Amino acid sequence: MNFFQTRSGSAFVAGLIIIIGFGVISLTSYVVSTNSAKQAILTNTLPLTSDNIFSEIQRDLLLPVLVSSLMANDTFLRDWMIAGEKEVPQVIKYLKEISDKYNAVTSFLVSEHTRAYYHAGGVLKKVHPEEPRDVWFFRVRDMVPPYEVNVDPDMANRDTMTIFINYRVLDYEGRFLGATGVGITVGAVKGLIEHYQERFGRTVYFTDRQGQVVLHGARFRGSANLDQRPGLAPHLPQLLKTNEYSAEFSEEGGTVLLNARYIPELKWMLVVEESPEDILQGFRSTLRANLAICALVTLLVVLLNRKTVHYFHDKLAGMALRDDLTGAANRRSFAIYFAQLTAQARRQPEDLSVLLMDLDDFKSINDQHGHLAGDLVLKQVAAHIKAHIRDWDILCRWGGEEFLVLLKGAGLGQATAIAEQLRQGLAAARFGQEPAAITVTMSIGVAQYRPDDSESGLVGRADDALYRAKAGGRNRVEALAA
Ligand code: GH3
Ligand code: MG
Ligand code: MG
Repeated sequence: MNFFQTRSGSAFVAGLIIIIGFGVISLTSYVVSTNSAKQAILTNTLPLTSDNIFSEIQRDLLLPVLVSSLMANDTFLRDWMIAGEKEVPQVIKYLKEISDKYNAVTSFLVSEHTRAYYHAGGVLKKVHPEEPRDVWFFRVRDMVPPYEVNVDPDMANRDTMTIFINYRVLDYEGRFLGATGVGITVGAVKGLIEHYQERFGRTVYFTDRQGQVVLHGARFRGSANLDQRPGLAPHLPQLLKTNEYSAEFSEEGGTVLLNARYIPELKWMLVVEESPEDILQGFRSTLRANLAICALVTLLVVLLNRKTVHYFHDKLAGMALRDDLTGAANRRSFAIYFAQLTAQARRQPEDLSVLLMDLDDFKSINDQHGHLAGDLVLKQVAAHIKAHIRDWDILCRWGGEEFLVLLKGAGLGQATAIAEQLRQGLAAARFGQEPAAITVTMSIGVAQYRPDDSESGLVGRADDALYRAKAGGRNRVEALAA
C-alpha cells in the first residue's frame, strides 16, 4: 500500500490540494487586484491630476508669458533704451499700465547699459553681479532661449514668492539690451498644489529639468532633488528627458507611484505622486482573511474527511469480519483463519479440530422469553464459550444459534474432552436478565482436520457428528472418528 492509499495519506493529500487551490486563488486575486489598482492609479488617476493642474497652470501662465513677450518686442521700450533711457516717468507709466491691465503683481525692466531696475513704483535699484538676488539677470543675459520662468522672492513686493517671466530684450541687430517681463504670485499655483494634496492625498510639486524641486506645497516632505531618492534612480534619466513618464518604485518599505510631465511654458516637470498604501493595506488584510478562512476550511475538511474515512473504515472492517450481535468471528473470517491455519499445518503438521455447536430447543426459549431475550442469551452464550476456550482458539458464529470453535493443536480426543467440558459448563450456567435465569444446553459435533481437507469437508463431518448428537437426545457431544 503506498502512502496515498493510507488513511492519513489521503487526508493529507486532500488538505494539501485544498490549501494549494485556495492559496493560489487568494494570491492570484491579491496580485491581480493590487496590480490593477496600481495600474489604474498610474494610467488614470495621476495623469488626470497632472492634466488638471497643467491646464490651470497654463491658464495662469499663458497670459504673463504672452504679455512679457509683447513687452520685449515693444518698439517703444527698445527705442527708449537705445535712446539712452531719458524720460524715466514714461517707462514707469508704461510698466504701471501693464501691471494694472493684466493683473500682474509686478512688471519690470532691467537695463544692461545702466543696470537700473525699473518697476511700476519707480527705479528700485541697480543690479549687481555680486548680489545673490540679482544673479537671475546675469543668467538671462547669457542664456540662449528668449525667456525663462523663475521663482524668487519679489523685493518690490515685500519679498512675496513670485513667478517671474524674464524675457530678453534685444536691439534691432540682436544685441542684448536688458530684461523685461511680469511677475505673478505663486500663491495661485501653490493653492492648486495644496488643493490636490489635501483632497486626494497626493504629493504635487515642480522640479526643473535637473530634478531640483522648485515649487511645492506646505506639507512637502520629499528631498530637494529627485536624484536623492534611490528607488527612483533607474527611472531618472528617462524621466527628466521625456515629456511624460510614469514610474512605480519602492521607498521606505512602501510602493510609490509617480507621474511626471514636462510643462514647456515653465520649463519645469510637474510631478504627482501617491503612496497607495491604504489601498494596498486593504488588499493585504483581505488576503490575510482569505488565507485564514482557507486554513480553517482545510482543517475542517481534513478533520471531517478523517472522521468519515475512519467511521466507514471501522464499520466496513467490523462488518466484514465480525458478527454484529455476539462480536464473534463470522463465516468470512472463519474462512480466512481456516486458510491461514491449514497453510501453516501443511508446512508444519499440527493437529486441528472443530467443534460445531447448536443450542438445543432454542425455538422454545424464544417462544417463552421473547426474541429479544433470545438475542441476549445468544450474546451471553458466545461470551461464555469465549471465556472457556484458549486465547488462540477461534470462536465463530456459524448460523442463528450455531457456533463453531476452531481448536489449534488439538486432536480428536482432546477436542472431544474440551467439547464435553464446554457442554457441561454451559448447561450449569444461567443466562438472560435477572431474575429470569434461563438455562440452555447444546449439542456438539467434533471433527478433526485431515491433510488436504477442505473447509466444507471438515465442517461437513462436524455437522454429521452434530446430527448424531441431536438424534441421540441432545445435550451431548459426538465425535466422528478420523
Ligand atoms: P434443535 O436445534 O434442538 O433441534 O431445536 P431448535 O429450536 O434450536 O431448532 P432449530 O435449530 O431448527 O431452530 C433455531 C431457532 O433459533 C429458530 C430461530 O427462531 C432461533 N434463532 C435463530 N437465530 C436467532 C437469533 O439471532 N436470535 C433469536 N432470538 N433467535 C434465533
Ligand atoms: Mg440450529
Ligand atoms: Mg437448535
